[in-house]
Amino acid sequence: MTATDTGVSIGTVNHWIDGQLVASQSGRSGTIWNPALGEPRAKVSFASVAEVDAAVEAARRAFPEWRATSLSRRSEAMFKLRELADAHRKQLAELITLEHGKTLPDAMGEVARGIENLEFACGVPQLMKGDHSEQSSRGVDTYQIRQPLGVVAGITPFNFPVMVPMWMFGNAIACGNTFVLKPSERDPSASLLMAELVKKAGIPDGVFNVLQGDKVAVDRLLEHPDIKAISFVGSTPVARTVYETATRNGKRVQALGGAKNHMLVLPDADINMAADAAVSAAYGSAGERCMAISVLVAVGGVADPLIAAIRQRMAAIRVGPGLEKGNEMGPLVTREHRDRVKSYLETADKDGATVMVDGREDSACQRPGFFLGASLLDNVKPGMRCYDDEIFGPVLSVVRVSKYDEALRIINENPYGNGVAIFTRDGGAARQFQFDVEAGMVGINVPIPVPVAFYSFGGWKSSLFGDLHMYGPEGIQFFTRAKVVTSRWPDPATSKVDLGFPQAR
Ligand code: NAD
Repeated sequence: MTATDTGVSIGTVNHWIDGQLVASQSGRSGTIWNPALGEPRAKVSFASVAEVDAAVEAARRAFPEWRATSLSRRSEAMFKLRELADAHRKQLAELITLEHGKTLPDAMGEVARGIENLEFACGVPQLMKGDHSEQSSRGVDTYQIRQPLGVVAGITPFNFPVMVPMWMFGNAIACGNTFVLKPSERDPSASLLMAELVKKAGIPDGVFNVLQGDKVAVDRLLEHPDIKAISFVGSTPVARTVYETATRNGKRVQALGGAKNHMLVLPDADINMAADAAVSAAYGSAGERCMAISVLVAVGGVADPLIAAIRQRMAAIRVGPGLEKGNEMGPLVTREHRDRVKSYLETADKDGATVMVDGREDSACQRPGFFLGASLLDNVKPGMRCYDDEIFGPVLSVVRVSKYDEALRIINENPYGNGVAIFTRDGGAARQFQFDVEAGMVGINVPIPVPVAFYSFGGWKSSLFGDLHMYGPEGIQFFTRAKVVTSRWPDPATSKVDLGFPQAR
């Protein structure tokens, strides 16, 4: 085992089961890359079915006692976990940057947004309050309580290795469930640091477990009889399969998928503000955000001045290793992914789009890491490969339209409906857009409208399969189920036989 400068041993990244590291016996593993260097960094174990079963069994054993732990003790534990996560922001962020590639300040932002979800979960005594109706019938009271589900699992993507798990496990365990996390195999180290923090917070062994792995682990979680709910975030094809398989197996599922987020710019928008927003939202984290802006829909004459302002800003973006101060955009996560993103630049001309800025020409591409500069495509239309696919890289496409209605039609006909933004100075137009648009999260002069932790996150259409959005109030609903009690304390004087259907008296 070797130690990193963050103090986490990473020779092989292993499982965390029942409060301790467990070396895998599966004989299967993958490579974790350092994308800034283009070099392997460590190995990650891939769980066998037996190892999945061991983690689920640890969580199943821990459930009765954890569920019975008082709300105030669970809340206290969440406060401790929040403090520990706060004290380890930098270590968590460094692990993200080393394995994902995003810049350290961006990784710090990810950790901050994750911690907000732990803060929300600290309020679990309030969040789990039920309803009570006294005298729903004579001498009868009716009340609803919310109870945890049991063992629940979270399956998470590579692009937010700390924030997305925190979207899930904070609320899940605060509500009294026990949890099995299957993080992305591309950047799994932060999951073990989070597990250590959970243990240090005094949360009992078995309440939080981590399984490293691939499809074998996921498939077993989807069919395991002791898993009551699956919370998934990843690409749309996998999200759809996870949803279909796990619901068929009787589980509650929320499966968040991919995205193609449009930013609509009306002719009256502040060009400089819109250009700042477009560049930040398209190229931050090298475009590997499910809420990244990937399509700019320019209405009327706004396209030319907007493109000019964007190009000016793109020329100043510093691309390089995420741990080096001053760099604003890091590498892509793997060589294969970088090459896939590049392929859209190779075919853009043939498709009829115009390559305005070609990220392949960025000097960072001479480095050994998986770098690609920021790219801008103009004259893009639905039907082109660069429009239809989720590219998930630093490529922004401009679609030119003459009218608002045409812009709205394009956005609403897109199969994804995660985030969307409008830039305008016209409050009435913004309000109409908010009313018309088919997407789960809308920004008004805000390019990345990720809801704060006390609202819930989720897209529409092919960006989410399931009924409940992630985290916030809907997260609490997802990780609990309702039980309604109808209660009468004996009053022998009113007791009689009555075969009719119970009615209020
Ligand atoms: P992915 O779908 O490849 O992987 C997600 C998880 O599923 C990982 O844990 C992975 O190990 C597992 N997985 C992958 N293939 C599988 C298979 N065939 N069967 C079972 N499990 C499988 O996604 P990714 O590349 O890690 O993440 C990027 C994607 O996630 C993008 O599409 C992005 O838009 C999406 N994303 C969505 C949101 C959202 O909130 N909607 C947030 C972040 C990322």
